[in-house]
Formats: sequence, structure tokens, C-alpha cells
Amino acid sequence: MKVLVINCGSSSLKYQVLNMENDSLLVKGLIERIGANGSVITHEKIGLGDKYVLEKPLANHREAIQLMIETLLDPWHGAISAMEDLGAVGHRVVHAGEKYAASVLINDDVMTVLEECVELAPLHNPPNILGIKACKELMPNTPMIAVFDTAFHQTMPAEAYTYALPYEYYEKYKIRRYGFHGTSHKYVAERAADILGVNLLDLKIITCHLGNGASVTAIKRGKCIDTSMGFTPLEGLVMGTRSGDLDPSIVSYIRDKEGIHLHDVIDVLNKKSGVLGISGISSDFRDIEAAVEEGNERAALAIKVFAHKVRFYIGAYIAEMNGVDAIVFTAGLGENSSKLRSVICAELGNLGIKLDLVKNNVRGKESIISRDGSKVAILLIPTNEELMIARDTYRIAKKYIENGIKIS
Ligand code: ADP
Repeated sequence: MKVLVINCGSSSLKYQVLNMENDSLLVKGLIERIGANGSVITHEKIGLGDKYVLEKPLANHREAIQLMIETLLDPWHGAISAMEDLGAVGHRVVHAGEKYAASVLINDDVMTVLEECVELAPLHNPPNILGIKACKELMPNTPMIAVFDTAFHQTMPAEAYTYALPYEYYEKYKIRRYGFHGTSHKYVAERAADILGVNLLDLKIITCHLGNGASVTAIKRGKCIDTSMGFTPLEGLVMGTRSGDLDPSIVSYIRDKEGIHLHDVIDVLNKKSGVLGISGISSDFRDIEAAVEEGNERAALAIKVFAHKVRFYIGAYIAEMNGVDAIVFTAGLGENSSKLRSVICAELGNLGIKLDLVKNNVRGKESIISRDGSKVAILLIPTNEELMIARDTYRIAKKYIENGIKIS
């Protein structure tokens, strides 16, 4: 079966088609600037060696998905010869609240839940919903599966997800910690167990997803028991442009001092803080590392603050799990910045965490980067959320198709 994976953002759409007979990637693409001037699709057929780029006005997500389908059907660049070749579509959906702890076949009830969760993820769920609706319209007979960022974290115990607020806020408004990047944390934890040749159920793993958005997760016997992001993806680590944890009193203090609205303060915390805020240079670690080379002190401080917070969570999760067997680095920074990994792992030797500086000199490739004899294995594992979404999609769609259940 061929499976289409879709990740729909507010003005962009990422897609991949995979052949699930052997988990191979056939094509991938990105449509940007949907609804704005200069919409463009960049599409790549794996093995063809070049990228196909087309500028075309796209007023909305439906038009973007129509263009994606036309491209998938293209005899030269495409991956399918007819729409029926696509066995199922997997949609990345950010927020499912407390409703789903696993991926599900999308039906009317699921759509209602996604709509209900819009107030929990106002930036993310609406474009996810738009993408699903457009696909359903254009592919009415193809099973659609939703794979949630929050699902993997639903195993967190109440002591990890409960905020110390009046309890009625949880009961009335569902204010609690949810966690994000779940698909990525789950994927790299499973890969770590495979690479180490140990059953996932026998491992305590700390996964560090360090990209523009960043989170750390504690995984005990294959289940998430804590994660650094909370009610929204603003909590936890320092990120590219997000502040991460801070004293909530700062919010009203900035509002009063700067004379701005509350929502503008939240905007500052989301878009102007983090590594960008501290360094004043960029949210991108490549720029930060270049500035450090030139002696920029605030850039150096940004890296130190970032690494401090990752170490802080690693320490906390070792305590929570009463030990750790493996630490995994993934996502843009975790996979590419050997410098950052070495700053994070420095001086953790007494905890049995010993990075091998030679093995650490690697980028974007599955590797064990701890020293021989390090009590805790340190791994670099490139994340592959799309493959994880495709596998869930395939598994669920196959079950429904085999049982002869009508999809729509
Ligand atoms: P997201 O998916 O959250 O947008 P990514 O996982 O793609 O983010 O990570 C993007 C970030 O990874 C970049 O902003 C940059 O900071 C970092 N990054 C990517 N490549 C490198 C590199 N070669 N060296 C250092 N940092 C890198």
C-alpha cells in the first residue's frame, strides 16, 4: 500500500508518499505561501536527483492539495498513476486534548473533537483541520487517519501533568500539561531500543528533541512519564524564539513596564525570546555558533542558557525514573550540532553519562556517541515523524479495509 502523509501548517503544507511494503520514501514535497503572493511547490522524487519547483497562485489549502495531487499523478515526477493507488492518508494533528492516546481513523466524531481542541491549539489545529477537510473532499473514498502530537504523552501520570492551580481550572477548562513532539519522541525511543538491541520495555530513556521547537521526554518501559512542554509548546526548554519556563509574574510585569497588551507579551515569549532573544542575533544555531567563533558574548551566553536547561531536565528525569539507560539527541540541532551535544553532556560523567568526543563528531546519522564503558548510552537518531505517521496510518487503514468496514 502507498500512503500519503500530510503535515498542514497555516500557510504551508509538507507531504510525503511512502511505499509501506518496505517503508521506502517515494516522493516528498513542500508547498509554501498558501494564500499569499508567490505560492510555490518544491517537489522531489527520490532517486531522480533533481527538485521540481513550480510557482502557482494558491488561494487556499484546497487549491494547494489539488496541486499536490496533480503533481503526485505526474507521469515523470509523480508517485501514483491513479488516485486509487493511494491506500490511505495520514494527517499530523497537533492537539487531541485528553481524548486520544493513539492514532485514529477520522470520522465525524473525530472531526468534532479536533474542532473542540482548537481553543487548546489555536495556531495549529485549524490548519490541520483545513487539510483534512480538503483531502476528504478531493479523496472521498480514501481512509484518513489522524496521528496526534499529544497522544504519546497521554500516559503521563497525574502528578506530572497537573498544574498546582485551583483544581477546578483543570475540571472546567482542561488546563493541564499535554506535551508535544510525541511522534518524534516515540520514534527515536523505539529506534534506540532497536539500535541497542534491548527490549524497549526494559529501558529508561531520555529523548531530547532539539529543533526550533524543543522538548525533552522521560520514557520508562516504552511509556512517556514526563515531558518538558506543557499546556502549550511554550513551556520547558529555551527554544529558537520561545522563552520556555519562566516565572509567570514576569508576564504582567513586562505588560506594565512596556505598556503593551497581554497578548503582545505572549507574542514576545513565543516569537522574540529564546536563543534569538538572548543573543539578539538569530534563532538559528548556525548563526549563533558563527557569532561565538567571532567572540560574541551574548551568542555564547545563549548556547550556555540553552544547554543549561537541557541538562536541568535530564537531571530531573534521571531523578524521576530513578536512573537512565540511554539519552537520545534528535531534530535539527540534536542531529547536527556536535558542539551543543558536547556542551550539554559536559560534566555529567559522575552520572555515568560519558560522551565520546570523536564519535560525537557526526551529523545526521544514526550513531552511538557515548564512550565505550559509559554506563548510559548516548545516541544520535535522526527523527522521522513522517515514517511514524505512515506506519500508524497503514496499520489502522489495513485493519479497517480487511474488516470490510466502509470508511466514509
Ligand atoms: P523545526 O522542525 O522545529 O522547525 P528543526 O528540527 O528543523 O526545527 O531544526 C531547525 C534548527 O536546527 C535550525 O534553526 C538550527 O538552529 C538547527 N540546525 C540545523 N542544521 C544545523 C547545523 N548544521 N548546525 C547547527 N544547528 C543546525
